[in-house]
Amino acid sequence: MKTTGRVSGIISNIVIVKADGAVGQNEICHVWCGETRMMAEVIKVVGDDAYVQVFDSTRGLKIGDKVEFEGHMLEATLAPGILSRNYDGLQNDLEKMNGLFIERGSITDPIDFERKWEFKPLAKAGDKVSAGAWLGEVQEQWVAHKIMVPFVMTENYTVKSVVAAGEYKVTDVVAVVTDAEGKEHQITMVQKWPVKQAIRAYANKPRPSRVMETGIRSIDTFNPIADGGTGFIPGPFGAGKTVLQHALSKQAEADIIIMVACGERANEVVEIFAEFPELEDPRTGHKLMERTTIICNTSNMPVAAREASVYTGMTLAEYYRAMGLKVLLLADSTSRWAQALREMSNRLEELPGQDAFPMDLSAIISNFYARAGLVELNNGATGSVTFIGTVSPAGGNLKEPVTESTKKAARCFYALSQGRADSKRYPAIDPLDSYSKYLEYPEVSEYLDERIGKGWVEKVYKGKTIVQRGKEASEQINILGDDGVPVEYHERFWKSELIDFVILQQDAFDSIDANCPIERQKYMYEKVLSVCERQFEFVDFDECSSYFKQLINLFRQMNYSVYESEQYYAYDKQIDELIEQKIK
Ligand code: ADP
Ligand code: MG
Repeated sequence: MKTTGRVSGIISNIVIVKADGAVGQNEICHVWCGETRMMAEVIKVVGDDAYVQVFDSTRGLKIGDKVEFEGHMLEATLAPGILSRNYDGLQNDLEKMNGLFIERGSITDPIDFERKWEFKPLAKAGDKVSAGAWLGEVQEQWVAHKIMVPFVMTENYTVKSVVAAGEYKVTDVVAVVTDAEGKEHQITMVQKWPVKQAIRAYANKPRPSRVMETGIRSIDTFNPIADGGTGFIPGPFGAGKTVLQHALSKQAEADIIIMVACGERANEVVEIFAEFPELEDPRTGHKLMERTTIICNTSNMPVAAREASVYTGMTLAEYYRAMGLKVLLLADSTSRWAQALREMSNRLEELPGQDAFPMDLSAIISNFYARAGLVELNNGATGSVTFIGTVSPAGGNLKEPVTESTKKAARCFYALSQGRADSKRYPAIDPLDSYSKYLEYPEVSEYLDERIGKGWVEKVYKGKTIVQRGKEASEQINILGDDGVPVEYHERFWKSELIDFVILQQDAFDSIDANCPIERQKYMYEKVLSVCERQFEFVDFDECSSYFKQLINLFRQMNYSVYESEQYYAYDKQIDELIEQKIK
């Protein structure tokens, strides 16, 4: 018998329910408003009062209306057919609904339950298996989608049988396993998993040691993100967070992209839907959407559904990771998620923390980021979830709680600066405030020695020092005037501008410059560094600045030329000649 209850109080979309039986924290229930059945989640239980937040508008709801508890938490449906879809935070398929403005109470199937898939067995009778073990696979777009032992079956199962290769529906039984007591369990291609709990279907979670290349120089060269790493992008409105996330989704070295568009304005989300299906995948030559799933909630959808969307996204990412794939999870913006937490906590009249965010905001954010990572599966394969979220701090204030809490949780910090955006220095990633903690990992350093060249990390720090010293020189020049400082100060300043204009700035809208492969980054960076390491002799600051402007121009022409083309090497040669001229 399911627990039921009656509405006894309504505070916006939080409803107090008198329950007639046991109710669990985070349990899902349905609230009946006339003929409309609305999904809700239990967020607090006090005696036999359950506080539930309704994933819909509560308009028209009355005291005494009926509530049914479901006995399980908010779950994601995990099965072949997730890729290419657009979901809301509760995994409703937006294409099957009336656009972005979903009718109240409506739900749709997250996948096609009628479709047949070509199943190939991977396990055989007698195999010892546990959660996440691969029983078979089906081809989903470009991915060998593994059919796994359900994540609830943690250990000690034996395969009794697996069906022969052939066409099956996701709900067909494809394997039977027995547990330690000899009891049989039927397995289909569909499993469900509570979104707020990490999927733990792996043997180990080692520290990330490889780098995920993105083709974005200020990330790969200056502050690389690990495969299985975490990063975040704080930036004021208009600083380029969304452009950067889109570039990452197109270019990063990942098998699967899960994109959570969390509560940004509706027109931005419409843009994603217009733009994404058109994008070509540089890796396969097909549509990028074929290996992408978009989860979206706009700010005109209910608050509670926004909170769910990041968890649903993470759960899908963990699911594909368990298949031995590299998953890139992007969330834009996590501030909207934090705001949802704040609204919820305020309605519950909880004791507020800083800026009225919940007291445990930091823990909630850390726990979420901790779900990303590199894993070694029980069969020896590896998979990863790399997570990059944006934060939109009010007024660009990086001391606000969401930014501060995220800074503790994420290992890469890509601070977008208003000043850089204003002067069109895109991407506006501030070279001095931003960092990647992965540069400090000896294993990452070794990996980069191998992948790019010996002593690479040392070279990166050299570049950072040059930028820092350039900034100091520029401050002196600003105070003392062009003539008030020795010409070496100008040289120092222009060397940092060379790094900025050639390495850090990159045109996301240019077909060649947008995506810079690592070999090309190495070539340019080493060439730029070799210029920076020279001592020049200029008669005055005018000569110095016009010389560097010429250099910067030639380097930029190189960035806009096809790599290793005749034109590319022509500019390369001109640069060498220009340098030659200035050497005594
Ligand atoms: P946010 O999401 O932070 O509000 P957007 O990502 O929408 O900001 O960027 C705002 C605008 O800045 C873009 O429409 C674009 O014109 C410009 N922009 C941002 N990044 C770049 C880039 N890398 N190259 C060129 N233009 C950019
Ligand atoms: Mg944006």
